[in-house]
Amino acid sequence: MRSTYKNYFFNKFFINTRYRKLILFSIALIICLVFCSGIAVSATSATEENSSSNTQTETATNDTNSDTSSGTETDNAKSDTSTNTKTTGKTSKKSKTVKITISAAGDCTLGVDSRYNNTFNNYYNKYGDAYFFKKVKSVFSKDDLTIVNFEGTLTNSTARANKTFTFKAPAKYVKILKKGSVEVVTLANNHTMDFGSQGFKDTKETLKKNKISYCEGSTIAYKTVKGVKIAFVGFNALNGVSEQQVKNTIQTAKKKKAKIIIASFHWGIEKEYYPNARQKTLGRCAISSGASLVLGHHPHRVQGIEKYKGRYIVYSLGNFSFGGHTNPDDKDALIFQQTFYVKNGKLQKKNDAKIVPCSISSVSYTNNYQPKILTGSEKKRLIKKINTLSKGMNTSFENSGKAK
Ligand SMILES: [Zn+2]
Repeated sequence: MRSTYKNYFFNKFFINTRYRKLILFSIALIICLVFCSGIAVSATSATEENSSSNTQTETATNDTNSDTSSGTETDNAKSDTSTNTKTTGKTSKKSKTVKITISAAGDCTLGVDSRYNNTFNNYYNKYGDAYFFKKVKSVFSKDDLTIVNFEGTLTNSTARANKTFTFKAPAKYVKILKKGSVEVVTLANNHTMDFGSQGFKDTKETLKKNKISYCEGSTIAYKTVKGVKIAFVGFNALNGVSEQQVKNTIQTAKKKKAKIIIASFHWGIEKEYYPNARQKTLGRCAISSGASLVLGHHPHRVQGIEKYKGRYIVYSLGNFSFGGHTNPDDKDALIFQQTFYVKNGKLQKKNDAKIVPCSISSVSYTNNYQPKILTGSEKKRLIKKINTLSKGMNTSFENSGKAK
Protein backbone atom coordinates (compact mmCIF):
# COMPACT_ATOMS: atom_id res chain seq x y z
CA MET A 1 0.00 0.00 0.00
CA ARG A 2 2.77 2.29 1.00
CA SER A 3 4.85 1.59 -2.12
CA THR A 4 1.76 1.97 -4.29
CA TYR A 5 1.17 5.45 -2.86
CA LYS A 6 4.85 6.34 -3.37
CA ASN A 7 4.73 5.25 -6.96
CA TYR A 8 1.55 7.18 -7.56
CA PHE A 9 3.06 10.35 -6.08
CA PHE A 10 6.30 9.93 -8.05
CA ASN A 11 4.45 9.35 -11.27
CA LYS A 12 2.06 12.21 -10.79
CA PHE A 13 4.53 14.94 -9.86
CA PHE A 14 7.95 14.02 -11.18
CA ILE A 15 7.44 11.90 -14.18
CA ASN A 16 4.78 14.16 -15.54
CA THR A 17 6.83 16.77 -17.39
CA ARG A 18 4.23 19.48 -17.05
CA TYR A 19 4.25 19.29 -13.26
CA ARG A 20 8.03 18.90 -13.08
CA LYS A 21 8.56 22.14 -15.01
CA LEU A 22 6.10 23.97 -12.79
CA ILE A 23 7.76 22.74 -9.59
CA LEU A 24 11.28 23.53 -10.77
CA PHE A 25 10.17 27.00 -11.82
CA SER A 26 8.55 27.58 -8.39
CA ILE A 27 11.70 26.45 -6.54
CA ALA A 28 13.83 28.73 -8.69
CA LEU A 29 11.46 31.63 -7.99
CA ILE A 30 11.55 31.04 -4.22
CA ILE A 31 15.37 30.84 -4.21
CA CYS A 32 15.50 34.04 -6.22
CA LEU A 33 13.13 35.85 -3.84
CA VAL A 34 15.05 34.74 -0.73
CA PHE A 35 18.38 35.78 -2.27
CA CYS A 36 17.13 39.21 -3.39
CA SER A 37 15.55 40.00 -0.03
CA GLY A 38 18.89 39.06 1.59
CA ILE A 39 20.65 41.67 -0.55
CA ALA A 40 17.99 44.22 0.28
CA VAL A 41 18.42 43.65 4.04
CA SER A 42 22.19 43.97 3.91
CA ALA A 43 21.94 47.05 1.65
CA THR A 44 19.60 48.70 4.15
CA SER A 45 21.92 48.09 7.07
CA ALA A 46 24.89 49.40 5.07
CA THR A 47 22.96 52.59 4.34
CA GLU A 48 22.17 52.93 8.00
CA GLU A 49 25.81 52.56 8.91
CA ASN A 50 26.76 55.20 6.36
CA SER A 51 24.15 57.59 7.55
CA SER A 52 25.20 57.15 11.17
CA SER A 53 28.82 57.81 10.32
CA ASN A 54 27.72 60.87 8.35
CA THR A 55 25.91 62.09 11.42
CA GLN A 56 29.02 61.72 13.49
CA THR A 57 31.02 63.70 10.96
CA GLU A 58 28.40 66.39 10.89
CA THR A 59 28.31 66.58 14.64
CA ALA A 60 32.04 66.91 14.81
CA THR A 61 31.94 69.62 12.16
CA ASN A 62 29.18 71.39 13.96
CA ASP A 63 31.05 71.18 17.23
CA THR A 64 34.13 72.67 15.70
CA ASN A 65 32.17 75.52 14.20
CA SER A 66 29.77 75.97 17.05
CA ASP A 67 29.33 79.03 19.14
CA THR A 68 32.16 79.18 21.63
CA SER A 69 29.95 80.76 24.25
CA SER A 70 28.43 77.36 24.84
CA GLY A 71 31.85 76.12 25.76
CA THR A 72 31.23 72.84 23.99
CA GLU A 73 33.26 73.45 20.89
CA THR A 74 36.63 72.10 19.79
CA ASP A 75 37.37 68.46 19.36
CA ASN A 76 40.89 68.86 20.64
CA ALA A 77 40.87 66.99 23.88
CA LYS A 78 43.62 68.21 26.15
CA SER A 79 46.51 66.05 25.21
CA ASP A 80 49.33 64.74 27.28
CA THR A 81 51.88 67.44 27.66
CA SER A 82 55.25 67.41 29.23
CA THR A 83 57.98 69.85 30.07
CA ASN A 84 60.55 67.56 28.57
CA THR A 85 62.99 69.96 26.96
CA LYS A 86 65.01 67.15 25.44
CA THR A 87 62.35 66.23 22.91
CA THR A 88 63.51 66.95 19.41
CA GLY A 89 60.17 68.29 18.29
CA LYS A 90 59.87 65.76 15.48
CA THR A 91 56.39 64.45 14.92
CA SER A 92 55.98 60.74 15.44
CA LYS A 93 54.07 60.25 12.16
CA LYS A 94 55.92 62.45 9.74
CA SER A 95 53.30 62.79 7.04
CA LYS A 96 50.46 63.55 9.42
CA THR A 97 49.33 67.11 10.09
CA VAL A 98 49.32 67.78 13.81
CA LYS A 99 46.74 70.24 15.17
CA ILE A 100 47.64 72.20 18.28
CA THR A 101 45.21 74.59 19.93
CA ILE A 102 46.47 77.26 22.31
CA SER A 103 44.30 79.59 24.41
CA ALA A 104 45.49 82.84 25.93
CA ALA A 105 44.06 85.24 28.48
CA GLY A 106 45.31 88.45 30.05
CA ASP A 107 46.14 89.74 33.53
CA CYS A 108 45.57 87.28 36.32
CA THR A 109 46.27 88.93 39.64
CA LEU A 110 45.33 86.10 41.94
CA GLY A 111 45.88 87.95 45.18
CA VAL A 112 45.58 91.38 46.73
CA ASP A 113 47.35 94.43 47.95
CA SER A 114 46.12 94.01 51.51
CA ARG A 115 46.70 97.70 52.25
CA TYR A 116 43.59 98.50 50.20
CA ASN A 117 41.25 95.56 50.38
CA ASN A 118 41.05 91.86 50.94
CA THR A 119 38.14 90.97 48.71
CA PHE A 120 39.89 88.48 46.42
CA ASN A 121 40.96 86.53 49.53
CA ASN A 122 37.41 86.63 50.87
CA TYR A 123 36.17 85.00 47.66
CA TYR A 124 38.93 82.39 47.91
CA ASN A 125 38.04 81.59 51.53
CA LYS A 126 34.36 81.40 50.78
CA TYR A 127 34.34 79.52 47.45
CA GLY A 128 37.73 77.77 47.15
CA ASP A 129 40.25 77.53 44.33
CA ALA A 130 38.01 76.04 41.60
CA TYR A 131 35.65 79.04 41.77
CA PHE A 132 37.76 81.54 39.83
CA PHE A 133 38.07 79.79 36.43
CA LYS A 134 34.93 77.74 36.74
CA LYS A 135 33.13 79.61 33.95
CA VAL A 136 35.98 79.50 31.43
CA LYS A 137 37.32 76.04 32.18
CA SER A 138 35.16 74.59 29.41
CA VAL A 139 37.46 76.39 26.96
CA PHE A 140 40.77 75.93 28.78
CA SER A 141 40.33 72.23 29.46
CA LYS A 142 39.63 71.39 25.83
CA ASP A 143 42.64 73.07 24.23
CA ASP A 144 46.19 71.73 24.20
CA LEU A 145 47.77 74.53 26.22
CA THR A 146 46.54 77.64 28.03
CA ILE A 147 48.73 80.64 28.86
CA VAL A 148 47.86 83.64 31.06
CA ASN A 149 49.80 86.61 32.38
CA PHE A 150 50.41 85.89 36.06
CA GLU A 151 50.66 89.38 37.48
CA GLY A 152 51.58 89.05 41.12
CA THR A 153 53.52 86.85 43.51
CA LEU A 154 53.06 83.64 45.46
CA THR A 155 55.05 84.35 48.60
CA ASN A 156 55.02 84.95 52.35
CA SER A 157 57.70 87.60 52.03
CA THR A 158 57.03 90.93 53.71
CA ALA A 159 59.72 92.77 51.75
CA ARG A 160 57.22 94.95 49.95
CA ALA A 161 58.60 97.04 47.12
CA ASN A 162 58.06 100.76 47.43
CA LYS A 163 55.31 101.22 44.87
CA THR A 164 51.60 102.03 44.60
CA PHE A 165 50.31 98.47 44.24
CA THR A 166 52.02 95.28 45.38
CA PHE A 167 50.24 91.99 44.93
CA LYS A 168 50.79 88.77 46.75
CA ALA A 169 49.06 85.53 47.56
CA PRO A 170 49.90 82.41 49.57
CA ALA A 171 51.46 79.53 47.61
CA LYS A 172 48.25 77.50 47.74
CA TYR A 173 46.62 79.98 45.32
CA VAL A 174 48.59 78.26 42.55
CA LYS A 175 45.76 75.71 42.63
CA ILE A 176 43.52 78.32 41.01
CA LEU A 177 45.64 77.91 37.86
CA LYS A 178 45.74 74.13 38.20
CA LYS A 179 41.97 73.85 38.63
CA GLY A 180 41.46 76.22 35.72
CA SER A 181 43.58 74.10 33.38
CA VAL A 182 46.28 76.75 32.87
CA GLU A 183 49.64 75.16 31.99
CA VAL A 184 51.87 78.14 31.21
CA VAL A 185 52.23 81.64 32.65
CA THR A 186 54.34 84.61 31.72
CA LEU A 187 56.01 86.34 34.64
CA ALA A 188 57.33 89.17 32.50
CA ASN A 189 55.33 92.04 34.00
CA ASN A 190 55.56 94.95 36.43
CA HIS A 191 54.37 92.99 39.50
CA THR A 192 56.71 90.00 39.48
CA MET A 193 59.15 91.84 41.74
CA ASP A 194 56.55 93.28 44.14
CA PHE A 195 58.17 91.37 47.00
CA GLY A 196 61.73 91.54 45.75
CA SER A 197 63.93 88.71 44.63
CA GLN A 198 62.62 86.48 47.46
CA GLY A 199 59.04 86.93 46.25
CA PHE A 200 60.10 86.16 42.68
CA LYS A 201 62.03 83.08 43.76
CA ASP A 202 59.11 81.78 45.86
CA THR A 203 56.70 82.30 42.97
CA LYS A 204 58.88 80.37 40.54
CA GLU A 205 59.43 77.52 43.01
CA THR A 206 55.72 77.14 43.65
CA LEU A 207 54.92 77.15 39.94
CA LYS A 208 57.64 74.58 39.29
CA LYS A 209 56.41 72.34 42.10
CA ASN A 210 52.95 72.45 40.59
CA LYS A 211 54.20 71.77 37.07
CA ILE A 212 53.13 75.11 35.67
CA SER A 213 55.71 76.37 33.20
CA TYR A 214 56.75 80.01 33.19
CA CYS A 215 58.60 82.32 30.89
CA GLU A 216 60.25 85.64 31.61
CA GLY A 217 63.11 87.40 29.80
CA SER A 218 65.78 84.86 28.97
CA THR A 219 63.81 82.05 30.69
CA ILE A 220 61.93 80.24 27.95
CA ALA A 221 59.18 77.74 28.74
CA TYR A 222 59.14 74.67 26.50
CA LYS A 223 56.23 72.29 26.21
CA THR A 224 55.98 69.31 23.92
CA VAL A 225 52.49 68.50 22.68
CA LYS A 226 51.75 65.62 20.27
CA GLY A 227 55.46 65.49 19.48
CA VAL A 228 55.68 69.20 18.61
CA LYS A 229 57.92 71.44 20.68
CA ILE A 230 56.38 74.78 21.62
CA ALA A 231 58.30 77.69 23.14
CA PHE A 232 56.85 80.48 25.26
CA VAL A 233 58.87 83.66 25.59
CA GLY A 234 57.89 86.66 27.71
CA PHE A 235 59.10 90.27 27.75
CA ASN A 236 58.34 93.10 30.10
CA ALA A 237 58.58 95.98 27.65
CA LEU A 238 57.85 98.45 30.45
CA ASN A 239 61.44 97.83 31.49
CA GLY A 240 62.70 98.82 28.05
CA VAL A 241 63.23 95.59 26.14
CA SER A 242 65.17 96.01 22.88
CA GLU A 243 64.40 94.55 19.48
CA GLN A 244 67.73 92.75 19.63
CA GLN A 245 66.71 91.00 22.89
CA VAL A 246 63.45 89.91 21.26
CA LYS A 247 65.31 88.58 18.21
CA ASN A 248 67.93 86.77 20.31
CA THR A 249 65.40 85.08 22.58
CA ILE A 250 63.29 83.88 19.65
CA GLN A 251 66.47 82.72 17.93
CA THR A 252 67.34 80.63 20.99
CA ALA A 253 63.90 78.99 20.91
CA LYS A 254 64.35 78.22 17.20
CA LYS A 255 67.77 76.68 17.84
CA LYS A 256 66.15 74.46 20.47
CA LYS A 257 63.89 73.21 17.67
CA ALA A 258 60.67 74.87 18.81
CA LYS A 259 58.17 74.73 15.94
CA ILE A 260 55.65 77.10 17.49
CA ILE A 261 56.86 80.19 19.36
CA ILE A 262 54.42 82.19 21.47
CA ALA A 263 55.72 85.63 22.46
CA SER A 264 54.09 87.53 25.35
CA PHE A 265 54.65 91.24 25.87
CA HIS A 266 53.75 93.39 28.84
CA TRP A 267 53.50 96.78 27.23
CA GLY A 268 51.47 99.83 26.33
CA ILE A 269 49.68 102.46 28.36
CA GLU A 270 47.07 101.74 31.02
CA LYS A 271 43.45 102.35 30.00
CA GLU A 272 44.41 102.89 26.34
CA TYR A 273 42.38 101.15 23.63
CA TYR A 274 44.93 101.57 20.85
CA PRO A 275 48.49 100.26 20.73
CA ASN A 276 51.27 102.79 20.67
CA ALA A 277 54.15 102.84 18.18
CA ARG A 278 56.41 100.83 20.49
CA GLN A 279 53.90 98.00 20.78
CA LYS A 280 53.63 97.85 17.00
CA THR A 281 57.40 97.88 16.51
CA LEU A 282 58.04 95.14 19.08
CA GLY A 283 55.10 92.98 18.02
CA ARG A 284 56.07 93.08 14.36
CA CYS A 285 59.73 92.54 15.23
CA ALA A 286 58.73 89.37 17.13
CA ILE A 287 56.78 88.05 14.14
CA SER A 288 59.59 88.92 11.73
CA SER A 289 62.01 87.11 14.03
CA GLY A 290 59.92 83.93 13.92
CA ALA A 291 57.20 84.24 16.57
CA SER A 292 54.04 82.35 15.62
CA LEU A 293 51.74 84.50 17.77
CA VAL A 294 52.18 87.67 19.86
CA LEU A 295 50.12 88.20 23.01
CA GLY A 296 49.99 91.58 24.72
CA HIS A 297 48.79 92.82 28.09
CA HIS A 298 49.06 95.57 30.70
CA PRO A 299 46.66 98.33 29.46
CA HIS A 300 43.78 96.70 31.48
CA ARG A 301 41.71 97.19 28.35
CA VAL A 302 41.22 95.09 25.24
CA GLN A 303 42.96 96.43 22.15
CA GLY A 304 42.87 95.55 18.45
CA ILE A 305 44.32 92.47 16.79
CA GLU A 306 46.64 92.74 13.82
CA LYS A 307 47.47 90.14 11.20
CA TYR A 308 51.05 90.70 10.22
CA LYS A 309 52.91 88.46 7.77
CA GLY A 310 50.17 85.89 8.25
CA ARG A 311 50.49 85.81 12.06
CA TYR A 312 48.48 87.50 14.79
CA ILE A 313 49.47 90.24 17.20
CA VAL A 314 46.91 90.54 19.99
CA TYR A 315 47.79 93.98 21.33
CA SER A 316 45.97 93.63 24.63
CA LEU A 317 43.89 90.80 26.05
CA GLY A 318 42.67 93.00 28.91
CA ASN A 319 42.28 91.85 32.49
CA PHE A 320 41.15 88.37 33.36
CA SER A 321 40.77 87.15 36.95
CA PHE A 322 42.02 90.42 38.30
CA GLY A 323 42.37 90.89 42.06
CA GLY A 324 43.81 94.38 41.57
CA HIS A 325 40.49 96.20 41.33
CA THR A 326 37.18 95.60 43.11
CA ASN A 327 35.02 97.11 40.35
CA PRO A 328 36.64 98.30 37.11
CA ASP A 329 34.27 100.26 34.88
CA ASP A 330 35.43 98.34 31.78
CA LYS A 331 35.13 94.60 32.42
CA ASP A 332 35.76 93.43 28.84
CA ALA A 333 38.30 90.65 28.38
CA LEU A 334 39.34 88.23 25.67
CA ILE A 335 40.38 84.66 25.35
CA PHE A 336 42.32 84.40 22.12
CA GLN A 337 42.40 80.89 20.78
CA GLN A 338 44.40 79.64 17.86
CA THR A 339 44.88 76.28 16.21
CA PHE A 340 48.27 75.71 14.63
CA TYR A 341 49.02 73.06 12.03
CA VAL A 342 52.37 71.30 11.92
CA LYS A 343 53.19 69.03 8.99
CA ASN A 344 56.45 67.16 8.52
CA GLY A 345 57.82 69.04 11.51
CA LYS A 346 57.02 72.37 9.88
CA LEU A 347 54.53 74.98 11.05
CA GLN A 348 51.98 75.61 8.31
CA LYS A 349 50.72 79.02 7.23
CA LYS A 350 47.14 78.03 8.00
CA ASN A 351 45.87 79.52 11.25
CA ASP A 352 42.43 78.98 12.73
CA ALA A 353 42.01 81.85 15.14
CA LYS A 354 39.09 83.08 17.13
CA ILE A 355 38.23 85.34 19.99
CA VAL A 356 36.09 84.27 22.90
CA PRO A 357 34.59 87.48 24.32
CA CYS A 358 34.53 87.49 28.11
CA SER A 359 33.80 89.64 31.12
CA ILE A 360 36.29 89.65 33.99
CA SER A 361 33.35 89.18 36.36
CA SER A 362 30.31 86.93 36.19
CA VAL A 363 28.19 89.77 37.64
CA SER A 364 28.03 93.29 36.24
CA TYR A 365 27.72 95.36 39.44
CA THR A 366 31.09 94.39 40.93
CA ASN A 367 34.22 92.37 40.25
CA ASN A 368 33.72 88.88 41.64
CA TYR A 369 36.99 87.72 40.05
CA GLN A 370 35.21 84.99 38.13
CA PRO A 371 35.58 85.61 34.37
CA LYS A 372 32.68 84.43 32.27
CA ILE A 373 32.12 83.91 28.54
CA LEU A 374 29.80 86.51 27.08
CA THR A 375 26.72 85.46 25.12
CA GLY A 376 23.96 87.12 23.10
CA SER A 377 24.03 90.89 22.69
CA GLU A 378 27.05 91.31 25.00
CA LYS A 379 29.08 88.90 22.90
CA LYS A 380 28.03 90.74 19.77
CA ARG A 381 28.95 94.08 21.30
CA LEU A 382 32.46 92.99 22.26
CA ILE A 383 33.16 91.40 18.86
CA LYS A 384 32.04 94.64 17.23
CA LYS A 385 34.31 96.58 19.58
CA ILE A 386 37.31 94.40 18.68
CA ASN A 387 36.51 94.81 14.97
CA THR A 388 36.42 98.59 15.42
CA LEU A 389 39.69 98.58 17.37
CA SER A 390 41.28 96.32 14.72
CA LYS A 391 40.47 98.58 11.75
CA GLY A 392 43.43 98.90 9.44
CA MET A 393 45.10 95.87 11.03
CA ASN A 394 44.08 93.26 8.40
CA THR A 395 41.75 91.38 10.73
CA SER A 396 38.10 91.13 11.53
CA PHE A 397 35.98 88.59 13.33
CA GLU A 398 32.67 86.97 12.49
CA ASN A 399 29.73 87.00 14.88
CA SER A 400 30.85 83.61 16.11
CA GLY A 401 34.24 85.08 17.07
CA LYS A 402 36.11 83.29 14.27
CA ALA A 403 38.71 85.27 12.38
CA LYS A 404 37.60 85.93 8.82
ZN1 LIG B 1 50.88 95.43 34.32
